[in-house]
Amino acid sequence: MKIPGFHIVPLPTEIADSARRAVNAGAPDHTLMTVDSAGSSPCRHCLRWANAAEDVILFPYTAIPAGYPYSETGPIFVHANECQRYGATNEYPAEFRNGRVFRAYDSNYHIIDAQVVNGIEPEAVIENLFQNPRTAFVDARSVTHGCFTFRIQRA
Ligand SMILES: [Zn+2]
Repeated sequence: MKIPGFHIVPLPTEIADSARRAVNAGAPDHTLMTVDSAGSSPCRHCLRWANAAEDVILFPYTAIPAGYPYSETGPIFVHANECQRYGATNEYPAEFRNGRVFRAYDSNYHIIDAQVVNGIEPEAVIENLFQNPRTAFVDARSVTHGCFTFRIQRA
């Protein structure tokens, strides 16, 4: 389903590539892992769950920059091998329709609203959060683990 007026922002390819270089260089905060079971490790670059036996990199990502009360750096996965960045940016990613929480931020990176998306249409929740003119962007995160998954911006 298309999301009128909004677009999905997957992790930039430069960040996925730099994580791949860092793990090869032995960076202590980048861990190469083989996925045990599908549905446990979402790749933030292609916005798909990694399959069992695929290699992923776990590393810290700063979703909200330092210097603000809501500053946040947390763990994310990307595929260890090259993958295609999610390209259907005007469509909600099919694999993350459940189990996410949406956090709406204002332009000072303050959380001004939040809603759990589980069993309801994510497009309707996005539209609702952006009805507030103060909403600058919305971050989708794991409802259980809290990890950043992707950003949603006004088109
Ligand atoms: Zn991927």
